[in-house]
Amino acid sequence: MKKLKATRVISQIFFFLLVAAAFTVLTFPIKFIDTKEFFLTSPSLLIFSEISAVYLTKGMAVLLIFIIIAFLFGRVFCGWICPFGAVMDFFVFLLKPLRKYKESKPDKKLMIKYYALAVFAVLAVLGYQFVWIFEPITVFSRFFHLSLFPFFNAVTDKFFQYIIMNHDFGENIYYAISNNIFSARSISFKYSFAFFVLFMIPLLAAAFRRRFWCRYICPLGASLGILSVNPKFALRKKACSSDCGRCEQICRSNAIKHDGSYISSECVMCMDCTILKCYKPIENKKPCQKEIVQNSGLCQRQNKGISRKQFFLWISGAVAAIYVLVRKAYAASHFSKNSVIRPPGAMKEKEFKAACVRCGNCMKACITNGLQPVMFESGFDGIWTPKIDNITGYCEYNCNACGQVCPTQAIKALTPEEKLKQKLGKADIVKNVCVPWKDGIECLVCEEHCPVAEKAIKFVKEIINGKETDVPIVDADLCIGCGVCENKCPVEGRKRGITVNPI
Ligand code: SF4
Ligand code: SF4
Repeated sequence: MKKLKATRVISQIFFFLLVAAAFTVLTFPIKFIDTKEFFLTSPSLLIFSEISAVYLTKGMAVLLIFIIIAFLFGRVFCGWICPFGAVMDFFVFLLKPLRKYKESKPDKKLMIKYYALAVFAVLAVLGYQFVWIFEPITVFSRFFHLSLFPFFNAVTDKFFQYIIMNHDFGENIYYAISNNIFSARSISFKYSFAFFVLFMIPLLAAAFRRRFWCRYICPLGASLGILSVNPKFALRKKACSSDCGRCEQICRSNAIKHDGSYISSECVMCMDCTILKCYKPIENKKPCQKEIVQNSGLCQRQNKGISRKQFFLWISGAVAAIYVLVRKAYAASHFSKNSVIRPPGAMKEKEFKAACVRCGNCMKACITNGLQPVMFESGFDGIWTPKIDNITGYCEYNCNACGQVCPTQAIKALTPEEKLKQKLGKADIVKNVCVPWKDGIECLVCEEHCPVAEKAIKFVKEIINGKETDVPIVDADLCIGCGVCENKCPVEGRKRGITVNPI
């Protein structure tokens, strides 16, 4: 059993490093490891985003593997694979010399995560997907991509600048890193600090109760818990006859009860209890299934035939399914206007907000740093979805990176040819800011940068301040709304002489 416990720790380290490496190299051009697969491991994330946006992805096949694992073995993912769980365990390991943990018996608070999951499920049926707030893989990826990475990048960038300038050394290493491993360029994201705080809360909570997040909050843990009510190969099939209570006190998930039996849906398979010498399985007494089920909040009647509760659940499920289908038909026939400029290939606005899990993959992969998280510009349900901010960047004409890395297909993976045909918005001249229109001074910058071969910005003659001047106008049919004109406009500040509006 000791070997198994050591294997678990190795597995955690391996998966953490794999995820960290994949996230680190997720820069343009896309290479090495496909990070999308990590997000497909979460039933709560994938299923709720698909219900709320009413679509189905190929990711369901990957998800099925993790569902089968949970059915057979329990919450293996939580103890062996989850990078967030690994970080929490490592943090607790560091605290070991300072703090002794002593757990008590399982209580009703363990149910909180199931109630939260039920709320997320109802919201998903209504077309709102908020599971991203607490879903551990997205909390981890948002922090990694949008907080840690810009910081790491800036430090690396400054370090090499200093070495190259002062010691005339390191230029080749710098270019090898920035061309082959990660961008090592200056990038920044709005709300970086908020992503850092959201990451730190569960970590600090672990100082108070180990795996606090997994016990009381985590929607992924709750969805795996539902699948793990009675796994075929349960870790602790037999209750323990020794009443010393040691396993109860060391269990990081609060899963072991006073009578020596355990709640399989709470167990994260950390194996701590199995290496205790005092564990004496009672040969003829299995842990009481009824109690396990009750404690996990999934109380079922043991009698045959359908109970009133089951009947109610079936009816609710059927009503929800009909409602989702009606919503899909309605969404297909109604066009919802974008409130902000979305990346190329993004779903229609309402579906996009529901399908996007706020992982930050697209924002990190964006070659120009133009994709930024929004706050309330697209409504409360659009918080932290990506928009193109033409001040921090723009949509590069020959790039299709964001769609390649989106795990939920909220942004479609476009071919380079399809990408060129995308229309993201429409540029408009701001006549009281644009230099030729306002001051009668000639300026060609926006026209020069326009990537469309026929040029979507043309010049016409106008009398400005009593002088004939060439002033820019936009050809709405040719403009693709890429935003490079707004980004390169020499007028300083956020108000430029040309601005792209959503369509
Ligand atoms: S927004 Fe444009 S430039 Fe940025 S990743 Fe997407 S396709 Fe590339
Ligand atoms: S749109 Fe961007 S943030 Fe949203 S799920 Fe796709 S990659 Fe993640």
